[in-house]
Amino acid sequence: GAHGTPLFQARGLVKRFGGLIAANDVSIDVAPGEVHALIGPNGAGKSTLVNLVSGLLPLDAGSIVLDGADITRATPHARVRAGLARCFQVTSIFAGDTVRDNLLLAVQAHAGSSFRFFADRARESELAERAQALARKVGLEDALDRVAGTLPHGAQRKLDVALALAARPKLLLLDEPMAGMGPEDSARMVELVRQLREETAILLIEHDMDAVFQLADRISVLVYGTVLTSGDAEHVKGHPKVQAVYLGT
Ligand code: ADP
Ligand code: MG
Repeated sequence: GAHGTPLFQARGLVKRFGGLIAANDVSIDVAPGEVHALIGPNGAGKSTLVNLVSGLLPLDAGSIVLDGADITRATPHARVRAGLARCFQVTSIFAGDTVRDNLLLAVQAHAGSSFRFFADRARESELAERAQALARKVGLEDALDRVAGTLPHGAQRKLDVALALAARPKLLLLDEPMAGMGPEDSARMVELVRQLREETAILLIEHDMDAVFQLADRISVLVYGTVLTSGDAEHVKGHPKVQAVYLGT
């Protein structure tokens, strides 16, 4: 297409819950280096789509390709290995462990199997460096020795992002990263997502329209399980149906 080969391509996704169609022939793609935002009213099917893409829900129809690999039937874990990481809204954090230990565990998990058999010092310090670099990247370098569960909400969301980055994803799924944040933390998260685009493409599900309009190269509007329209911020803001069903103007 006009943007070259997409990094990520979901085609004709269908998901039914009994008589309800939560995803009705949804197609969405993400170009390399792109931030593609998915917006839509409550019940539109945004979380369903994230669960279909990350493999937590089985598809009724459709296909998903990431970087040339067909991951339509891959397990969630295999999708992470293929380069697709997801932020789990804090649930992936071990609340009783320090930030450092959370990050070490995550980098070890993605460091390859050899680490388990050859636990040499050089390897260990390499992993420690990587954990520290992740903390620095999300602005948590001063919180490495804090117990994760005692961090304020905004910092926990940053840790969640760092844990996802430990997988070195090609595509990062962010499900409402600004949820429950005040304006200061939101602004910091916008800045963080802006930096992340240099290392990964991003599919961003977000309610905060200001954040979406600041960050997204492209926005798709989901309504009743269907993509109503896709385009840049100007296109979406000016679309009469979007104004009617979503922006409420
Ligand atoms: P959003 O995240 O956009 O608010 P959801 O994906 O959570 O929307 O929900 C889309 C629709 O699917 C809603 O009508 C919701 O009630 C329904 N739904 C979501 N998950 C389930 C489920 N596990 N079982 C039955 N219905 C569901
Ligand atoms: Mg949702």
